Order: sequence, then structure tokens, then C-alpha cells
Amino acid sequence: MSMLERINDLGHTIWLNGELKKSQSTEQRDIIDPATENVISNLAETAETEVNDAVAAASVAQNLWWKKSALERAETMHDIANDLLSMKEQLAETLTREMGKPYKESADEVDWSVSAIRYYAEIGRNDMGRVIGPAVEGHLNYTYKLPHGVVASIQPFNYPMTLLSWEGAAALAAGNAVIAKPSEYTTLTTLLYAGPFNKHLPAGLFQVVTGGGNVGRQLVEHPNVNMVAFTGSVPTGKMIARTCGERMKPSLIETSGNDPFLVMPSAPLDVSARGAAFSAFMNCGQICVSAERFYVHEEIHDTFVEKLTEHAKKIRVGNGLTKVEMGPMVAEKERARFEGIVARAREQGATVAHGGGRPSEFNRGWFVEPTILTDCTPDMDIFHNESFGPVAPICKVKDFDEALSHANNSKYGLGACLYTMDMKESARAAEELDGGMVWINAPLLDNDAGPFGGTKMSGMGRQLGSEGLETFRKTKFMWVDPFCGTQDFWWFPYADNESYPG
Ligand code: NAD
Repeated sequence: MSMLERINDLGHTIWLNGELKKSQSTEQRDIIDPATENVISNLAETAETEVNDAVAAASVAQNLWWKKSALERAETMHDIANDLLSMKEQLAETLTREMGKPYKESADEVDWSVSAIRYYAEIGRNDMGRVIGPAVEGHLNYTYKLPHGVVASIQPFNYPMTLLSWEGAAALAAGNAVIAKPSEYTTLTTLLYAGPFNKHLPAGLFQVVTGGGNVGRQLVEHPNVNMVAFTGSVPTGKMIARTCGERMKPSLIETSGNDPFLVMPSAPLDVSARGAAFSAFMNCGQICVSAERFYVHEEIHDTFVEKLTEHAKKIRVGNGLTKVEMGPMVAEKERARFEGIVARAREQGATVAHGGGRPSEFNRGWFVEPTILTDCTPDMDIFHNESFGPVAPICKVKDFDEALSHANNSKYGLGACLYTMDMKESARAAEELDGGMVWINAPLLDNDAGPFGGTKMSGMGRQLGSEGLETFRKTKFMWVDPFCGTQDFWWFPYADNESYPG
């Protein structure tokens, strides 16, 4: 069977109780390759009864999984990671055909997923609580880290394997069952990716229900879904946080960014311009931590723009299965949204220094040019809303203080990057630059062992690192008296000499 036939074959399937099966639902939507606009398959709007069946199966599986030893859970997770690695080419091709990113970036996602799964396999067995100095002699005080139970993991389209690994692996390592709801744009990749999980784990421990927001909503509202991990846009994140709040259901909310990128004169300009091009245009700018607002010192502004433009010109745009650095945007409506943002910036006075339109060589596919905007002012809309596309709007600043002040003037607080060789500026950035992640001369890098997440409207909670494992565990405080003694120091009867003296 060719890869295209295999991809097509995944259409209308869901992972339910250990089996990849066609959904009973009659509702479905087309899956379109964004580079060719060809319909490559379809996805089912999972039926409500199937969502209920998935939750019931997950509860049963979670009990079995939690009864296993932590070492056995770790070994199983390593087996899954090995199998995923052996499927790298299939997974990468599926993702590129479905979502558009260059094949190399799709293949990298498999590596990043595997490394996160291995990390959580290991730290999941590291400790399950801590022993606390007893408050009463001879007693045992400790915490016991328990899984939440059934976790719904609702995903966006831009990093379907990596983000599901960050959440799913941490959730599994903590002893939970996972029901994934992928984005409508990356369903096939997620269904393929779930294969090794279903091969190695108890039936029902890792399921995938497909469809749009309505299927996600059913999971969030379901009384037997004990926790929700969401990554996506602010409006959806707010809705989910509200629903979870009403039910006191724990939630991890990872939402949008509008990340600042500051360039100071002490930084090597070639490196900062190259880093800027990568940060703004990787994955066609569809990264939550893409560089979206540039504040560049006036001394170097013109040379920086020149150098950034040189790098942007070298970016090859085209089908992700060919030799390119940038694929199409994920969907026609995403391209229209992005083009609206660039048009508005121009209306507000921005000058197009590079790009600004669609590449002329394609008459199909949702391609756009990498775009650089100059003459920008910090009050423009583009400096206050996520663009989630390949655009680098540049604002000239007179010094570091001005850059810092504009950078922090945002409702978002996900990542931030500073290029500088001045140690004082680095130290101030650590202290004063808003954001869950601050990169100094090293944009976009993640470390499985370090936490990832936002502040302000960019979300609540953390994934990755030991913090990311904690997200998926609840803490029970334990108090044990192994000797079963009396506690006369505070039990009845009360001593008369301790009553109200009058
Ligand atoms: P989106 O909010 O449109 O969709 C995300 C997921 O939520 C999808 O699976 C969707 O079907 C589901 N959904 C929609 N309505 C729902 C509802 N009412 N209840 C439950 N689920 C619902 O986001 P998107 O366009 O797929 O992703 C892009 C966004 O994700 C960007 O804003 C980006 O910044 C953000 N993102 C954030 C991070 C992070 O870690 N902070 C990482 C990647 C992407």
C-alpha cells in the first residue's frame, strides 16, 4: 500500500478501547493537503456515544496501569518511544501532507516526541512523594503523588506529535489514562502516532477521538474526565478554563503568544539576524513562541533589517515534501486571517521591506511570502495580537529600557528573546522581561527537563520538566502512627486547668 493510500485509509477512524476502528458517526469533514489543495482523506466527528465509551474504557484501563510498578510503566514507555522512532518517515510524511510543514521539521517532531517520552518514562519512576519531618514523635508524615485519573488532551495543529508527547507522556508517567482530541488539521498524524501506544499499553489507556470543538467540549464537560490539558488559542482556552473552573476540574491551559524579540548593539548582527529569520519564519510562523514583535536598537536598525532581508530572501517556499525551508499555511482561512493582519499593519503605516504577498509561482496551495515590515510603531495592532504567520514587524527603539518597556506592554507573556552580549542587559532580562521562557541569544530552544508555559493571557500551568509531571499528579498528605498510640496531648478529656480562666 502506498503512503497516500495508507493516509487515506486512516480516514474516519478513531482509537477506541485499543482498536483503530471506523467511527459510527455519519458526520465527517475533508482533510486537505495545504500545499496541493487535494482532498487526501476525511475525519469523523466522533459520536457522543463513542466519546462516552472512550471515557468508560479509559477509567478501566487507568486502574490497570496504576497497579503496575513504576519501573514497568517506564519500560513500556521506552518501548513506545522505540516504535515511534522506527515510524519516523511515515509519521513525517503524513504530517507534511496533512499540515504543510517541511519534511525535515515533521521528522524533527518525531525525535522531539521520543525524547520527551523517554524523559517522562524516567522521571515518572523517580519519586512519588516526599517524606516530611514528623510533627509527632514516631509518626510518619509523607506526601503520596497520585494520578488524576482520566485526562483529556486537546491539541492545536502546529506541533501535533510534540505537544501530545509533552502532555501525554507526562500524564501516562504519572499514572493517568489519556484521551487525545487532535486538531481538525492534524488528525491523521495523531491517529498514526497513537499506534505504538495502543500496541504496548492496556486497551483504552491512550485513545484518540476526532472532530471539532464540539467533541473537545464533550470531553471537557464529561463528569468522568478528571483533568483537561489544553493547548490552543485564547478564546478556546478561556472557555475551557471557565468550564473546568465551574466543576473544580484541574486544567492545564497553554494558549497564544505575541513574543517580543529584542536586538541590542552588542550582539553579533549576523547571528541575531539569522536567529531572527528562523524565529519568525520557522513552521511558516505558526509557532506559539515565534518571534512576532521586533524591537531593534536604532544604532543597528538599518543593518539588521538589511541582514534579515538577505536571510528571508534565501528562504525557499513550497511543498514541504520538496527542498524548502517554508511550507504553506495550514488552511485557507488561516491564510486569509494572516493576510488581514499584514494588510492592517500596512494601513497603520508599516512599510513592506520584504514579501508581503503570495509567491507568484504557485496557483494552488496556501502559500505566503516571508514578510518583513519596517517603520512600525509599538501601538500598531500587529504588536498587540498574535499573527501566527510568517511576519517580522520591526520597531526602532532608542535604548534597552525602551525595548523592555514595549516588550512588556502586552496582554501575552509566553516567550521572549533578547540578543545581547551585555551581561547587565541579560541580568535585567531575567528579572524584568515578562514571559514563561526568556531566551538570551538562543531563540526557541526547548529542553524536556525545563518547564514550558505562559504568563498573563498565554496560559496557566506548566508542561515539561518536573513541573510538567506535577501538573498531571495530585498530592495526598499522609499521616501514619505505626504504633497506634493515644494522642493524649490533644484528645478528650480536656484538662480542667486548660479551660477558660474566667
Ligand atoms: P484552537 O483554539 O482553534 O483549537 C485548539 C483545539 O481546541 C482544537 O483541537 C480544537 O478542535 C479544540 N476546540 C475548539 N473549540 C473547543 C471547545 N469549545 N471545547 C474544547 N475544545 C475545543 O487553536 P489552533 O488554531 O488549533 O492552534 C493555534 C493556537 O494554539 C495559537 O494561538 C497558538 O499560539 C496556540 N499554541 C499555544 C502553545 C502553548 O504551548 N502555549 C503551543 C502551540 C500552540
